[in-house]
Amino acid sequence: SIIVFGSINIDLVATAPRLPVAGETLLGENFFKAPGGKGANQAVALSRLGVPTQMVGRVGAHSFGAELIENLQDAGVQTENIFVDETASSGVAIITVAHNGENQIVVIPGANGRINQADVERLGQILPTATALLLQLEIPVNSVIAAAQAAKNANITVILDPAPAQSDLPAELYPLVDIITPNEVEAGQLVGFSVDSEDTAAKAAGVLLQRGVKSAIVKLGAKGVVCATGKETFFVPAFPIEAVDTVAAGDAFNGGLAAALYARLSLHQAVVWGAAAGALAATKLGAQASLPDRFTFDAFLKE
Ligand code: ADP
Repeated sequence: SIIVFGSINIDLVATAPRLPVAGETLLGENFFKAPGGKGANQAVALSRLGVPTQMVGRVGAHSFGAELIENLQDAGVQTENIFVDETASSGVAIITVAHNGENQIVVIPGANGRINQADVERLGQILPTATALLLQLEIPVNSVIAAAQAAKNANITVILDPAPAQSDLPAELYPLVDIITPNEVEAGQLVGFSVDSEDTAAKAAGVLLQRGVKSAIVKLGAKGVVCATGKETFFVPAFPIEAVDTVAAGDAFNGGLAAALYARLSLHQAVVWGAAAGALAATKLGAQASLPDRFTFDAFLKE
């Protein structure tokens, strides 16, 4: 199986004619909630592609916890190792979206922010059953490092999505990572220069390799993907699609990438699978709602 160790969130979304100003109470129009969190999104992405997937993380007992676990189960993700925290809320994003598309977001890490060594130990117990571990940066970074170290010790592939963007990732993390997968913004923050082209992406990948990762995959959205391994650097173009909403496209990419490696395909083919899953997610509205299933994915790759 593949294990995802990371965040589980619920998005609470209100739409309104405009954003409220400080102190104002404004009448909105619609409300909806949707499961998210980069960890949970990547777990759902993998499971929809048919990969046996286990999620390790935390939800809050008294706010959306049961619902978030059920959502993952419905997607086929194994949830036995999600800890239900009695003392925290689940991770929540409170989002207001105005007619002109502007938004305002408050993120409460909640239970995600409480992840600690106890969770890493639960992870350690199931690591021997897995071939890869997917990590992101929505949980405390010392737990990300401990998890990567445990996976490294168990000889399991570590794939790190360094999102949300961070400029001061601890140096000790890089040598524990097999594949790092930043987008343009994340790559720019990590290396300290702007990344917006094939050329600058290749330079950034070079810097990340020097810091100790085995492979660096820089996602340039509609401009394609650059992958560098030290032995070779190659470019994979983006699939030509009509983008509707790129939310969770990056998570879909990592799901596709890891699913291909699970199927023992080459790194090049894995980047193609990532790009295909990302492109499909960009054609649909929403986060998890936009993640492709195996049937859609196979049909798209055959086109
Ligand atoms: P993130 O979602 O992390 O910001 P990107 O915007 O780079 O990352 O999107 C992730 C992947 O999804 C891209 O590498 C690409 O494969 C695919 N993708 C995103 N937007 C498009 C697009 N407009 N056309 C084709 N593929 C896209």
